[in-house]
Amino acid sequence: MPDKADVAIVGGGPGGLACARHLARAGAKVLVLERKPGFGRKVCAGGITCNGLVPLVPPDLIERAFPVQHIFSPRQRAQVVEKQPVIATINRERLGIWMAQQAADAGAMLHTGVHALALTESGLLVRDNAGAVRSLHCSHVVGADGARSVIRRALGLPSRLSIGLNAMLPVLREQMEWHLLPRLFASGYGWIFPHAKTTSVGAFTDGNLISGKRLQRNLHIWAAAQGIELGNASIQAGWVNYEYRGLCFGRRWLVGDAAGLSSALTGEGIYPAVLSGEAVATMILSNTMPPELKPLIKRHQRHRQLAQLAGRGRVVPALLAELFLLLLRLRAVDFHHLEMVTSSTG
Ligand SMILES: Cc1cc2nc3c(=O)[nH]c(=O)nc-3n(C[C@H](O)[C@H](O)[C@H](O)COP(=O)(O)OP(=O)(O)OC[C@H]3O[C@@H](n4cnc5c(N)ncnc54)[C@H](O)[C@@H]3O)c2cc1C
Repeated sequence: MPDKADVAIVGGGPGGLACARHLARAGAKVLVLERKPGFGRKVCAGGITCNGLVPLVPPDLIERAFPVQHIFSPRQRAQVVEKQPVIATINRERLGIWMAQQAADAGAMLHTGVHALALTESGLLVRDNAGAVRSLHCSHVVGADGARSVIRRALGLPSRLSIGLNAMLPVLREQMEWHLLPRLFASGYGWIFPHAKTTSVGAFTDGNLISGKRLQRNLHIWAAAQGIELGNASIQAGWVNYEYRGLCFGRRWLVGDAAGLSSALTGEGIYPAVLSGEAVATMILSNTMPPELKPLIKRHQRHRQLAQLAGRGRVVPALLAELFLLLLRLRAVDFHHLEMVTSSTG
């Protein structure tokens, strides 16, 4: 691993790899430092929107695509039927491997088993894959190290975390389902997202409203009511950060979950990570902000406001869930408002 680069990117998730590809294509000397032994593995339901990430990845990475969404509240169910698929599912490991290959092909240097430890005056302090602590010198550091980012913490920025639980079950389900049940999931929801040979079953909520332990109990209760046996399933937990405070901090940058860009309402974070990764690369190269960034940040803020409203007390979330379902049934509100991309309909 070299000890000098133009840009050191901490984290080889979708945000870091998108940033690396963009910078390397423009000729920058880019180092990606990933603490895991490989790229792509991540606790995730693998849902991506057809207005957002789907057009940006090769079709053979898409597992299933759904033109119909089934949404449930305690008292109602709504079906959103569109001519074209709205949401697709993707395998995170395959996505990560493809993105890593793209970044490497563009000329980025990717290193696994490397932990970023701290920011320094001239760059970064890291522990390499042989266990040695080393100084890296670079003009820019990009924190793409996820919801519990070391770089974000070193910059002194607070985070607000939502918690997600996910089980990949070896069963095939047909419908993509969202269950808005405030009693079990507060401002969040339970999901059933079918993949090619498995089904992602999980729950997401604001970590300030429900503890991980309680969320797990509630996930079991809800899954059993759906006829899904979670008994021996491996349930993995992960976080998303939705406290956005900016991308640029001098020569230090944040993208994706490290920047707090996931949706507080749905937990969607892959597309914001990719978009912000590319945007930071553009800003490093040319000091200009790409126009796609502004609508993303606006959408993020709107989701945050709605999530805060939906997390207030007991009555408000229940009323909001029923109102949302009613409006969906009456086609008075567009399901695309839940996406982080601002589509033509959104
Ligand atoms: C249960 C669950 C379900 C989800 N489902 C969806 C979904 O269906 N659709 C969707 O769009 N989003 C979903 N998300 C959110 C999505 O996974 C994240 O928002 C997205 O992965 C963020 O990408 P990122 O590149 O910013 O960070 P990450 O994907 O988290 O990547 C960060 C990388 O940095 C590495 N790293 C961390 N610290 C260090 C360090 N000190 N040194 C070196 N490397 C480090 C990590 O190993 C990791 O590889 C879900 C999240 C959870 C928890």
